[in-house]
Amino acid sequence: MSLRITPAFETVRPRVALIAHDACKDAMAEWAAFNLGTLERCNLYATATTGQFIAGLGLPVHMLLSGPRGGDAQAGAMIAEQKLDAVVFFWDPLTTQPHDVDVKALLRLAVLHDVPIACNRSSADFLISSPLFFDRTYLARIKLAQ
Ligand code: PGA
Repeated sequence: MSLRITPAFETVRPRVALIAHDACKDAMAEWAAFNLGTLERCNLYATATTGQFIAGLGLPVHMLLSGPRGGDAQAGAMIAEQKLDAVVFFWDPLTTQPHDVDVKALLRLAVLHDVPIACNRSSADFLISSPLFFDRTYLARIKLAQ
């Protein structure tokens, strides 16, 4: 049996998905601008329209499909395949969405796989400013315990 010594604090580029429903896109753009310096240190993924707002800030972003066309489902699949470390998902609590089943599936998979998910601005600020946000060993430890 080989012994692997893991550094106590291993910094990485977290893989973060950004998704905002239409009524929340301005809030997402403002939040991303406020957290620009931190987001520059992440690998970003976003649903198509949200991604245009993010790219407009000068941040490199991997584009998924638009949410109603499968982008939320793609983000859910990435969670299931352990390809995301965090999700910022500003879903609209006041409007019925045509892709509501995909929204529910994304929320369910994030909870099931214990991927941190922030659904409003203050939660997103708390998440992104946590010292654990860049700590790969924390996430690895949680995954091993499951
Ligand atoms: P959009 O998708 O960024 O393509 O608008 C978001 C959503 O509706 O889930």
